[in-house]
Amino acid sequence: MTQQNTVPRLFGTNGVRGVVNTEEMDCEFAMRLGMAIGTFMKGAVFVGTDARTSNEMLKSACMAGIMATGCDVLDCGVVPTPTIQFAVKSNDMAGGVMITASHNPPEFNGVKCVDPDGTEMARENEQRIEEIFHTEGFYRADWRGIGSKDDFDRAIPDYIDGIVARTDVEGIRKANLRVALDCGNGAGGNVSPRLLERLGVRYVTLNADPNGAFPGHNSEPTPENAKDLVEFVKAGGFDLGILHDGDADRTIFVDENGSYMHGDRSLAIAAQYECASRNGGLVVTPVSSSKCVEDAVKIAGGSMMYTKVGSPVVARAMMAHSAIFGGEENGGLIFPELQYCRDGAMAAAKMIEIIAMNGALSEIDAGIPAYSQYKTKTPCPDKMKDSVHAKLLEDEGSDNVDTTDGLKIFLDDGWVLVRPSGTEPIFRIFSEAKTPDRAREIAESYKKRVAEAIA
Ligand code: MG
Repeated sequence: MTQQNTVPRLFGTNGVRGVVNTEEMDCEFAMRLGMAIGTFMKGAVFVGTDARTSNEMLKSACMAGIMATGCDVLDCGVVPTPTIQFAVKSNDMAGGVMITASHNPPEFNGVKCVDPDGTEMARENEQRIEEIFHTEGFYRADWRGIGSKDDFDRAIPDYIDGIVARTDVEGIRKANLRVALDCGNGAGGNVSPRLLERLGVRYVTLNADPNGAFPGHNSEPTPENAKDLVEFVKAGGFDLGILHDGDADRTIFVDENGSYMHGDRSLAIAAQYECASRNGGLVVTPVSSSKCVEDAVKIAGGSMMYTKVGSPVVARAMMAHSAIFGGEENGGLIFPELQYCRDGAMAAAKMIEIIAMNGALSEIDAGIPAYSQYKTKTPCPDKMKDSVHAKLLEDEGSDNVDTTDGLKIFLDDGWVLVRPSGTEPIFRIFSEAKTPDRAREIAESYKKRVAEAIA
């Protein structure tokens, strides 16, 4: 639990994020980060952005830094994060850089790095970049070796071809489905309408123009931000509603009745489908995911593996153990047949395929057990986190405890995850049970136990 690296951390769970034109995310910062990235990557780099107003500014600065180290940059324009990842993987590049703040409010932006295999950058590589950044160990090319910059316009068509090639387009066409797509004015607007066209569904779009002012709604796919889509689906007789976050690595769905479907349900439904179509297989998800995922996988004859929280960890475990599917319950679904990363457009294509093959989404959902969750948190000084963890572990005994990430304690009628935050002086407590009351009761009792362990 203790931080091994003494260099101050820049990258969080999903890249570097900050408020634009403050010192945490201005041109100077982006240029210096670009120099550190180029020094580390040592080769040609794909660069892309989501739809934010600060994108061109930060991208230009970051590309200048990368070129200063002698690396060539290929600018993919406004694209979803998984589009950059697919381009890096398919074109034998040294890496990728995505200027995005995903689902954060419009005043934020960020930088996310991609490893040569197209996955989100491994933590140890981010640490190398942090080290170069803080020690200013930048490689400065001489005048003959400065990198070049070209536009790359194949990223989107290649990515769409990749998805279509791995989707049952014939089956989808026969089902004659009607779909409502809300791109939330994010980068998905440059991909998903074209994908739906290729899949042969009838579709209507909302907020499909990439626009950093986010005139439709903010870019996190919450129930609040899905209101217009829900109303639309209810009114219009659609088979499915699709909602992307700002960089379209995540997708949330609305069923044919206009019910917002939480991400644990779509994760379970996709996991079940992937297992059923292969007569089993391994599915990977973080310890925080609902038991409904495991239930769905077992119904379909598959097996489960749990990891620490964070999509890069899930993706790498999937690679190491030849998993057939994985993901997070925030709408981040990973289909390894295309690539080892969260992929919003692929998730949309697969959910359309699932409905085409198996019928109404609400009925598929009804076939999977449901649970209630409860989330809370409680303060704990950073220096006490290890001892609180040890005390709780001692009290519980090791039989019913999983220590993959924090403490996941299995009870007769549910489970609770007690996890120290990596960034704040708190423990996060997350429980699941058959009823809302019981889930709350479990979480509150462990909240009390953390407080007692500190006292
Ligand atoms: Mg995202």
